[in-house]
Amino acid sequence: MSLSQSEIASGLSTILGHDAVITDAQKMDAYLKEPRKRFHAPAAAVVTPPDVPALQALLRWANENRVGIIPQGGNTGLVGAQVPLLGSEVIVSLARFDRIRAIDTAAGVMTAESGVILENAHKAAEAQGAMFPLWLASQGSARIGGVLSSNAGGVNVLAYGNARELTMGVEAVLADGRLYQGLNALKKDNTGYDLKDLLVGAEGTLGIITAATLKIFPLPEDHETALVNVTSPDAALTLFQLMRQRLGGRLNAFELIPQIGLEFQLRHGMLDADPTASPSPWYALIEVTRMAGTEPGALQSALENAFERELITDATLAESLAERTRMWTFREQMSECQSKEGASIKHDVSVPIAAVPALIAEGSAAAARIAPGIRPVPFGHMGDGNIHFNFSQPAGSDPKAFMAQYDEAVHEVIYETVLKLGGSVSAEHGIGQLKVDLLKQVKDPVALDMMRAIKTALDPNGILNPGKMLG
Ligand SMILES: Cc1cc2nc3c(=O)[nH]c(=O)nc-3n(C[C@H](O)[C@H](O)[C@H](O)COP(=O)(O)OP(=O)(O)OC[C@H]3O[C@@H](n4cnc5c(N)ncnc54)[C@H](O)[C@@H]3O)c2cc1C
Repeated sequence: MSLSQSEIASGLSTILGHDAVITDAQKMDAYLKEPRKRFHAPAAAVVTPPDVPALQALLRWANENRVGIIPQGGNTGLVGAQVPLLGSEVIVSLARFDRIRAIDTAAGVMTAESGVILENAHKAAEAQGAMFPLWLASQGSARIGGVLSSNAGGVNVLAYGNARELTMGVEAVLADGRLYQGLNALKKDNTGYDLKDLLVGAEGTLGIITAATLKIFPLPEDHETALVNVTSPDAALTLFQLMRQRLGGRLNAFELIPQIGLEFQLRHGMLDADPTASPSPWYALIEVTRMAGTEPGALQSALENAFERELITDATLAESLAERTRMWTFREQMSECQSKEGASIKHDVSVPIAAVPALIAEGSAAAARIAPGIRPVPFGHMGDGNIHFNFSQPAGSDPKAFMAQYDEAVHEVIYETVLKLGGSVSAEHGIGQLKVDLLKQVKDPVALDMMRAIKTALDPNGILNPGKMLG
């Protein structure tokens, strides 16, 4: 029989002490409100365990009493994975697990607890002359455990990989309270299944990560950054291939931005100055890292070559940190500027890189057939084949009516186009509660069976993030 809300609160207080348990609705609010404003279920309580033994005791109790547990980091996830679905779950905030345990620059490893804010992990590495290259617009709030559990990507994936590739080992508490001590820092370890890779990207459905060993890299001496005018996604693709040839592993970002994004940001006063060289239908934000002892100018010379080949029509190179920051701000504000233009329909999708132009052309045409006047705003990590394929409502239309009429139909044609092109319906944001039904429709049935078998083996009572990912 399931516990009542007061039994849950009293059980939690016995294990963790009153100070670590929040049941007041107003105080719980910050943990329940998520960035998409789509999910509104309440929680039985929010708890803030102080350390690993307390977390183990909490999970043992939750497992015995069949209480649903939702691990939460910075609450910046975009698919509702970190907030309740049923209304009876307990949110476990990892905010107090906020220590950097060790940094070894010679070995290129940082051991960080799961509640460390991503930006603080960057600062800790930088203070030792190193870099942790996972960089997201939400890095001021997102925490290491959340970043790993959603296998976050961001803008440096091209050169350094996503969260999974940057993680060497994890320590995690399992559903029954046992501690998995997998904090190794080995480049080679062929002793069986890769359990780290199961926990990373599991969205808190297989265990609660308490710490991780992360790859760090020598801090670049400088960055070379440019905002480049291209006439089409096709031209951007050819340019990307040229940049790869000329710059190799130094190319760490290649982001595509449509003109409409600039229009939105200028209209709403979001930029202190226009960061582009001149008007263009599309822009590519390109960044190269320069390591100590290497000559500057690699990006400029690659772009000169692109001009000669007539692949680009204009470009501006950042001459100062302020200019580089302005270019990145322009990119990072792409999502926010859409909210100022009314409702939008969003897709975080990926296709093989060569198919990005077809995705944008076919997807935009299909959406326009369904919803005349709809404004495509596809942008993002072109170098990873990952486009945030968003659509803003027609100018001046009613946001609620637009969403009611077109949300589902536009999703359908975009996902259809993505799958036809051999892509994924979730490139970096995950499944959470937003895409549970979609996953069932599109994932290989054998893969789904394997995933369910793993879930049942590690969490037989289904207490970890119930209803998320696999439903
Ligand atoms: C403005 C903005 C920009 C963003 N940009 C990007 C981007 O470029 N790339 C990208 O990939 N994502 C992006 N995101 C999405 C989000 O920031 C990332 O998914 C981030 O990694 C989530 O971290 P978090 O700490 O906020 O996790 P939360 O939102 O708290 O949780 C996310 C998931 O992880 C689980 N979880 C949290 N902590 C733990 C733990 N210790 N152990 C086990 N499970 C845990 C939760 O249960 C949930 O399933 C963006 C979000 C915003 C708001």
